[in-house]
Amino acid sequence: MTDLDKIVSLAKRRGFVYPGSEIYGGLGGTWDYGPTGALLKKNLKDLWWRDMVQLRDDIVGIDAAIMMNPRAWEASGHVEAFTDPLIECKICHQRFRADKPEEIAAHEKTHKGEKVSWTEPQTFNLLVKSYLGVLEGKQSEIFLRGEITNGVHVNFKNVVDSTRVKIPFGIAQIGKAFRNEITPGNFIFRSREFEQMEVQFYIKPEEAEGKKWFAYWKQNRMDWYLSLGINKNKLRFHDHEPEKRAHYAKDATDIEYEYPWGFDEVMGIHHRGDWDLSRHGQYSGQDMSYIDPQTNERYIPWDIETSAGIDRTMLVLLADAYTEEENRVVLKLNPKLAPYKAAIFPLLGNKPELIKKAKSIHDKLKEDFMIAWDDRGNIGKRYLAQDEIGTPYCITVDFDTLEDDTVTIRDRDTTKQERIKVENLKEELESRLKS
Ligand code: ATP
Repeated sequence: MTDLDKIVSLAKRRGFVYPGSEIYGGLGGTWDYGPTGALLKKNLKDLWWRDMVQLRDDIVGIDAAIMMNPRAWEASGHVEAFTDPLIECKICHQRFRADKPEEIAAHEKTHKGEKVSWTEPQTFNLLVKSYLGVLEGKQSEIFLRGEITNGVHVNFKNVVDSTRVKIPFGIAQIGKAFRNEITPGNFIFRSREFEQMEVQFYIKPEEAEGKKWFAYWKQNRMDWYLSLGINKNKLRFHDHEPEKRAHYAKDATDIEYEYPWGFDEVMGIHHRGDWDLSRHGQYSGQDMSYIDPQTNERYIPWDIETSAGIDRTMLVLLADAYTEEENRVVLKLNPKLAPYKAAIFPLLGNKPELIKKAKSIHDKLKEDFMIAWDDRGNIGKRYLAQDEIGTPYCITVDFDTLEDDTVTIRDRDTTKQERIKVENLKEELESRLKS
């Protein structure tokens, strides 16, 4: 099994990620998050929102519609230029991206020595189309958003007019995006439906400001991934050469992680200049400029964008946490992100007095934490199951508990156990989870 296969298998076995519509044979490029995966993803989004919106005075959050007036996609250039070069293998008619030489080489190898020839590249638009309207034949064609950015830019004026933000400020958003990817793959790394978390940070249109804020966000985002506990040696920047940047981009960098197949993109930091606001201004006929309240200066702000894939970050979290030890597999997830903060076990599943006591602890703790419950099989197996979903602490209620009101608390990473008083459990968990 490759390392990626091991992660995919654990993700399925332990309820993190299932193939989309699996009972119907699946739907290429779609994935469903199961009970543990949905919790991990929610914790990731909550932490990001806390750090970007709650703790900052210069960023506000919005939640824009997935479906937009199609003119917005013309303005942003997606209708014309959101394309990948598509080529087709003339032997088996499988389609690939002409700009992914490793994938092409890997495919050619599957034809074992046969000479593979390819069709000429043709441009393939990644926007996913849909139809809106109730009258057959009178429906209008729309696009599901190919990135969440546009919903922010079209609301720039609304946010300025309805809040107290002043430049420089950012608008944060989390949400789904859809792309008709030619080659979805590498598990949740590249799918056709995925989620993004982004900040568009608007600044004064000056070269020095642009340089300053681009450098700031580059470092800020790297520091954030490091703060999640991701292995420093597996993260790096990849600055885009000027000729590889989108035509409007003044600067662009990716943060990459060393996935099981090598370094690849987790997120991008892009200096988009005034491209988006100017284009939306032109196409909508609305004035998108900003008036400085102090100086009355009027200008179209520049935008420094940080755009991260939630699913790719999920894969980073899973891959980085996955640890094989002598007799167990353990997900060493940051406790802040772990799906469950603790699990409660009655030592024996058939002793009503133990179950009753354990339930009372469970019911109390779950008011404050996401708590798992397990009363099946032997304790060793229960520990192993929690290790595989990254639960930082396992709390066992045994016969001593009934005597002295203490429980054992076992640490996921060290497997060390300590006895502590039931009445101190909440504070103990709080302080351990904070550190
Ligand atoms: P790639 O070149 O890897 O397809 P991209 O450069 O087109 O990605 P962006 O348009 O910059 O990606 O999107 C910002 C972020 O959204 C990416 O860094 C990635 O984390 C995420 N993302 C983009 N496409 C996908 C996808 N098909 N599946 C999952 N996440 C994606």
